[in-house]
Amino acid sequence: MKMPLNKPKKFIITKSPKGSGTPPGRALLKQVFLVLVIFLSLVSIYSLISDVSKSVEEIPLSTLAQEIALGKVSSITIVGDKLEIVFIEGEDKVSKKEAGTALSTTLKNYNVSPEALSKVDIEVKNDQGLLYWFVSLAPIILPIAFIVFFLWFLSRQVKGAGMQAFTFGQSKARMTHPDDKSQKVTFKDVAGCKEAKEELREIVDFLKNPKKFLDIGARIPKGILLMGAPGTGKTLLARAVAGEAGVSFFSISGSEFVEMFVGVGASRVRDLFDLAKKAAPAIIFVDEIDAVGRVRGTGVGGGNDEREQTLNQILVELDGFEPNEKVIVMAATNRPDVLDPALLRPGRFDRRVTLDLPDRKDREEILLIHARQKPFAEDVNLVLIAERTPGFSGADLYSLMNEAAILAAREERSKVSQFDLIRSIEKVMLGPERKSHILSRKEKELTAFHEAGHAVTASVLPYADPVHKISIISRGRVAGYVLKLPFEDRKLQSKKEFLDDIAVGLGGYVVEKTIFNDLTTGPSNDLQVATALARDMVTKYGMSEKMGPIALEGAGGKPLFGLGVGDKEYSEKVGAEIDAEVYKIMNEAMKKVEKIIKEHRKVLDTIARRLIEVETIERKEFEEILVAHGIVPKKKKDIEHQS
Ligand code: ADP
Ligand code: ZN
Ligand code: MG
Repeated sequence: MKMPLNKPKKFIITKSPKGSGTPPGRALLKQVFLVLVIFLSLVSIYSLISDVSKSVEEIPLSTLAQEIALGKVSSITIVGDKLEIVFIEGEDKVSKKEAGTALSTTLKNYNVSPEALSKVDIEVKNDQGLLYWFVSLAPIILPIAFIVFFLWFLSRQVKGAGMQAFTFGQSKARMTHPDDKSQKVTFKDVAGCKEAKEELREIVDFLKNPKKFLDIGARIPKGILLMGAPGTGKTLLARAVAGEAGVSFFSISGSEFVEMFVGVGASRVRDLFDLAKKAAPAIIFVDEIDAVGRVRGTGVGGGNDEREQTLNQILVELDGFEPNEKVIVMAATNRPDVLDPALLRPGRFDRRVTLDLPDRKDREEILLIHARQKPFAEDVNLVLIAERTPGFSGADLYSLMNEAAILAAREERSKVSQFDLIRSIEKVMLGPERKSHILSRKEKELTAFHEAGHAVTASVLPYADPVHKISIISRGRVAGYVLKLPFEDRKLQSKKEFLDDIAVGLGGYVVEKTIFNDLTTGPSNDLQVATALARDMVTKYGMSEKMGPIALEGAGGKPLFGLGVGDKEYSEKVGAEIDAEVYKIMNEAMKKVEKIIKEHRKVLDTIARRLIEVETIERKEFEEILVAHGIVPKKKKDIEHQS
C-alpha cells in the first residue's frame, strides 16, 4: 500500500514594492569593488598625466642661469613656481624657482647680467590651467579624497544596517496592482469550488460597487476565512477575488509576521493595514494564518508572546475598521481547528468558505484549465485522467500536467500523450520510479507476494475498491504498490467499507506471516494506516458495538493543540476499552484475511509469479487472471471505463 508523501508547492511570484533585489552581502561587495575600480582608474590617469610632464628634463636654477648667460635661452614661461624653458636650439626643459621671489632677482643673484636677461622673453602665466592644478595637487588631494570617500561609504553601510532595524516593522507584503495584467487571476482560472465562488461573488460585488451596499446601510464582512486541504486553491481563489474586483491585493504569509524581535509582528500588521487603507479598495490576504492565529495561551508551539501580540494586533485592526473603509481581509488555513476562537467571532473572520478536494467533474475542469497552453496528442482523454485521480487536489493535478509535459519534452516529443499523463499520475501520487533501486531476488519475491496479498484480498472482499494496477517497481519510499480506485468519489464511508479496507491493508502482512513464516519491516506502514482506521472507527464514528454512539476525539485528530498535550477527554478505563476494541477489530480482520489467503492461494501464486516476471500488472490482465481462477471481478455500473 502507498505511503503519504509531501507534495511540492507551486510558488506564485509577485512584485515586491519595497525592492529587496540583491542580498545585502552581495551588494556591499559590489560597492567595494566599484570604489576600488574608480580609485585604480584615477591613479592610473594621474600617473599617465604626470608621466607626460616628467618626460621633460628638469634642470637646476644654476644651470638655467649659465644657459641664459650663454644666450641659449629664447623664452621662459613662469607658471607659479614652475619655469618652462624654451631653448633656441634643442629640447624644452623645466625648472623651479624659489617661491615668493621674483625670477629676475634670483637670476641676478646667480650673476646673470641684465643684458643677457633682456634677450629672454619672460612671460608670467597666472591662469595656471586645470591640468597643471590637477597634476600638482593630485598627489595630495587624491589620497585624501579617497579616504574621505571611504569613510563616508563605510558610515553609509553602518547607517544602512542601523536603518534596517527601523524598517523591520514594515510589512513585507507583496502587492499586486489591479492593472498588472500578467498576474491577473480571475474566477475563470479557478475550476470547481462552485459554492465558494458563489459566496465570494458577493465580496467582489461590494468591492466593485461599495456605494450600493453602504447606501442601504449594509455592513460588509471584514474578514473571510478560506479553509481547505493544502492545494485546494485557497491562495488562487483569493487572488481571483482581487482580480475579479480589480482591486489591489496585499499578500503576506502568517509566518512572515514573526521575527526574532518582539513587537515586530504587531508593527508589521499595523503597517500592512495602513498600506492597504491607502490603496483602498483593497484585499489583504494572510496566507497560512494558523502560523499566528493559533489558540493563545497554550504554550504549545513555542509559547510565543510575539505570536500573541501579532494576533492581538490583527484583531485590533479588524475591529478598528470603519464600515466604509473598503478593505477586506481574507485569510487561508488548512488547520481551522487550531485557530483562536477570537478570530472567528462575528465582526472578524465570520465568513467562512470551505474548499473541498475536487470531485471527478471538478478534476476534469481543473485539468482543462491547466491544459490550456499545452499541445496534446489526439489520444489524450482528460475524462479518464480525472476518473483515475480521486483524492488529488488542484495542486496535484497541476503538477500532474506539468510532469506529463516534462516527460514528453524529455523524450523529444512535441505533444503530450495520454501515456505521459497516466505515468504522471503515479509519479505525483507516489514519487518518481527508482529504477536504480534494485531488489534482491528474495526481496523481489517477497514484495511480489506481499502486493499480491493486498490485491487478492481487495478482489475478494465485496466492499473494497477494485484493483487498477499492481507494481513492484519501487517509487519514492515504497517498494511496491497496489492502486485501487473507487468507482466514484466517496463522500461517506460505511462501516463495512472500513472493515474491508482494514483487511486489505493487512493483506501483505498476512502473506508474509503465513507464506514466508517470517515478517519484514515492509508492512509497518500498512499496519499504521489500518490501525489508525480501526481507532477512528471506535473513537470518532461510533462504529464499535461495545463503545456505542460516542465521539471521543474531535475531527482534527488527537486534541493536541487546542487543549494542550495529553489532555484526554476520557478516563483511563475508557482508554483501555478503546484499545481492546481496536485490538478486536484488527484481529478479526487478520483472521478474515488468513482465510482468504488460504482459500485463494492458487490465484495469489499466479499473480505473484507474473509480477516477478513483468513487475507491473494492469487492470485488464489482472481481471483475466481472476476470471481464470473463478473470481468475478467487480463491475462498474455507471461510468464505463475506456482503458
Ligand atoms: P492552497 O493555497 O489551497 O494550498 P493554491 O491556491 O496555492 O493552494 O493552489 C496551488 C495551485 O494548484 C494553483 O496555483 C493552481 O495552479 C492549482 N489549483 C488548485 N486548485 C485549483 C482549481 N480549483 N482550479 C485550477 N487550478 C487549481
Ligand atoms: Zn503493503
Ligand atoms: Mg496557499
